[in-house]
Amino acid sequence: MYDYLIVGAGLYGSTFAYEATKRGKKVLVIDKRNHIGGNIYCDNVEGINVHKYGAHIFHTSDKEVWDYVNDIVEFNRYTNQPIANFNGEIYNLPFNMNTFNKLWGVITPEEAKLKIEEQKKQSLIDKPKNLEEQAISLVGTDIYEKLIKGYTEKQWGRSATELPAFIIRRLPVRFSYDNNYFNDLYQGIPIGGYNEIIEKMLEKCDIKLGIDFFEHKDELEKISEKILFTGMIDEFYGYKFGVLEYRSLKFETEILNEDNYQGNAVVNYTDRETPYTRIIEHKHFEYGTQDKTVITKEYPADWKIGDEPYYPINNDRNDEMFAKYKELAEKEDKYIFGGRLADYKYYDMHHVIRAALDKAKEVM
Ligand code: FAD
Ligand code: UDP
Repeated sequence: MYDYLIVGAGLYGSTFAYEATKRGKKVLVIDKRNHIGGNIYCDNVEGINVHKYGAHIFHTSDKEVWDYVNDIVEFNRYTNQPIANFNGEIYNLPFNMNTFNKLWGVITPEEAKLKIEEQKKQSLIDKPKNLEEQAISLVGTDIYEKLIKGYTEKQWGRSATELPAFIIRRLPVRFSYDNNYFNDLYQGIPIGGYNEIIEKMLEKCDIKLGIDFFEHKDELEKISEKILFTGMIDEFYGYKFGVLEYRSLKFETEILNEDNYQGNAVVNYTDRETPYTRIIEHKHFEYGTQDKTVITKEYPADWKIGDEPYYPINNDRNDEMFAKYKELAEKEDKYIFGGRLADYKYYDMHHVIRAALDKAKEVM
């Protein structure tokens, strides 16, 4: 008999499992995939750690979470500084003085602010109601047209006027020459990739891979006191209130016979015509010196049941539906729910660890 069955060997399930085994609990972890780690899993290709489910950069201002992961593995000094390629023109991201200088030739923050203010006035936006209006209010029409519109409409498969404003507020706008994509205090990539964190977290657990919970639900319920479920909450309840929507991605990975393809880990393609949103060159996350390189083109894709659910689409329809599922989940006695799919929330890794630590404290 296990104290806990954990469905999903992603970062949420693994953090919870680590906390449980530290407290002497007996834990079984299952995953329907044939590897642990969920979406932070890395494949080793030509000696390079390839982020199989999309580029993952660890960043946080939560000191406790940063110390927690650094106690498990060592992190490097990687700082994400993606660049944007708009029809062959290169710009720095996030939007900062380097971007403004390249675009308009402005030198001082005051000149940049004037330029943005001028463009904002011309567009007559008072209170931004959607992503397009929010973007123009923040950075003006030139940046919106070259660096935001095409990328956003590819990424989400709909017009920027139909998207919520909050998506673009995730990106910093800075009036300094600072290309760091994140404002957080701490940032890096685990030296040797992400797998070691998960391996260490699950060291004291039993693990079974390639097992879909729903195919063995009855027998699994019998062998465990409590069950933590980190899969899709609507699937758990048989989609009785409807299907929560996601945006998916397709990855196209190639090994190239050259040592440096694009000189940066992340290059965003911000025009509408290029079908992918970005190219990741994985070796640059760890300052790799291999003779070959591995690149991944990331294509946004519609999602249907059975596809990989990557980005929850938090619009009113889906949020209202999720609230109904959550109400049922809160009444469960044997089950605990958590993670990106069960909480239907765009969590970063540090949010997932924080949420799992809090949950572990609450229930144990
Ligand atoms: P998951 O990693 O999805 O794990 C859930 C696991 O449950 C999966 O392995 C799944 O196979 C398993 N499972 C589901 N249903 C069942 C079932 N029925 N039976 C058995 N197993 C099941 N965060 C950052 O901090 N920085 C980044 O740069 C970053 N980049 C990202 C890029 C992309 C493209 C995406 C999609 C996410 C990114 N994230 C990033 C977020 C990060 O991936 C998540 O915060 C984190 O991986 C979520 O962990 P989780 O355990 O909640 O979910
Ligand atoms: N975005 C953009 N141009 C870029 C990068 C991002 O317009 O070059 C917009 C896009 O709408 C995206 C949002 O900013 O969905 C948030 O970007 P982020 O990098 O946080 O996306 P994620 O990591 O979620 O893929």
